[in-house]
Amino acid sequence: MRRRSRPSATISELRRDADSQIVSYWSFLQMGSAAEFKGHLGYADELASTYAWDSTVANARGPAAGDVAIVRDSDWVLGVGRIARIDITTGQSKLRRRCPNPACRSTFIRSRTERTPEFRCGRCGTEFETPGTERIEVTEYAARFDADWWTIDRVVAVKAG
Ligand SMILES: [Zn+2]
Repeated sequence: MRRRSRPSATISELRRDADSQIVSYWSFLQMGSAAEFKGHLGYADELASTYAWDSTVANARGPAAGDVAIVRDSDWVLGVGRIARIDITTGQSKLRRRCPNPACRSTFIRSRTERTPEFRCGRCGTEFETPGTERIEVTEYAARFDADWWTIDRVVAVKAG
């Protein structure tokens, strides 16, 4: 099982079941490597039992119990699960990073391991040592897979898209 220190979530709908009109198929993307998106400060997510995100994520309210989710990172499929339930917690406080350029304030921040200063804004290109932060209130979602989870043991590459 892979452990990610700072996973962030991306949710996209893959397909809605034509027969039932109920079951949707979701891609749950985890991004955790150092070079990737650093606008979020992490989600409490434990692969294989839970996939967690919050209301700042696109499609945050989309996934529902009974839907099927493919959990992946940017390169590999990690597992497939049927969502048993979704736990919703409102009123949670979250620290969000922002570009310190007052004219920009983007959350699209990249961190760089090989250069200083560490951070670079992905929108305006400003480089900085310390990101601006703001505290926002979010709703947290956690999809629980329970028994209906299959870890993909073999290496399955994610095709582009
Ligand atoms: Zn910026």
